[in-house]
Amino acid sequence: APRKLAAGNWKMNGDLASLAEIDALIAAHPAPSCEVLVCPPAVLLHPMKERAGGARVALGGQDCHADLAGAHTGDISAVQLKDAGASHVILGHSERRADHGETDAVVAAKAAAAHAAGLIAIICVGETETQRDADQTLAVIASQLDGSIPEGATAANTVIAYEPVWAIGTGRTPTLDQIAEVHALMRERLGGRIGDAAQVRLLYGGSVKPGNAAQIFALSDVDGALVGGASLKAADFGAIIAAL
Ligand code: 13P
Repeated sequence: APRKLAAGNWKMNGDLASLAEIDALIAAHPAPSCEVLVCPPAVLLHPMKERAGGARVALGGQDCHADLAGAHTGDISAVQLKDAGASHVILGHSERRADHGETDAVVAAKAAAAHAAGLIAIICVGETETQRDADQTLAVIASQLDGSIPEGATAANTVIAYEPVWAIGTGRTPTLDQIAEVHALMRERLGGRIGDAAQVRLLYGGSVKPGNAAQIFALSDVDGALVGGASLKAADFGAIIAAL
């Protein structure tokens, strides 16, 4: 199984003062047994990289454009993220799919750009509550995976995050059986697309907290977490890192 990954998604939160949280995190966990990744707002990537703590964790963006450069006002390219210190980029988060109408095809094009720039793409999928209630979860996840993963994806350049939309920021999580069922489906589905599918990291995301992390991480086919709110505070994110 791949080495576990604790990924923090700060979303549109944080400022220069919050960089101190990263120093505190690394001071408390100088040699974590999992990989640690923090994805702050893009304007904080470079200053974070320059901090003592930031130099010791992997950094990622939260989105990139499908083109590597050009006339796209307000957008950021994968090449620029890499230049600012990122090794990863989150793509197709449900908030981007909802706020910016990103389709699976758009996500796949962005992931191809990330790969071209040498970034690891963290591709997000997840069902809405309505879809789960209608027993469409597995079909939705399979279809999002098929449409959002670009040609050339490998275990080295691609991570998949399962984030049920109804579990994000709500304090609600699926049952352990429900998480295990989706992760098993994802592993199987990836087998048809990616040669080394067994090595692809599959993250769970959605209301991961210090109190539920250990149980979720103990599931087979869960190779880490994509953490929102609890990644903003060193104490909470540190406890999740310790649970991996
Ligand atoms: P929360 O951990 O705040 O539920 O957010 C999850 C998420 O969307 C991470 O990308």
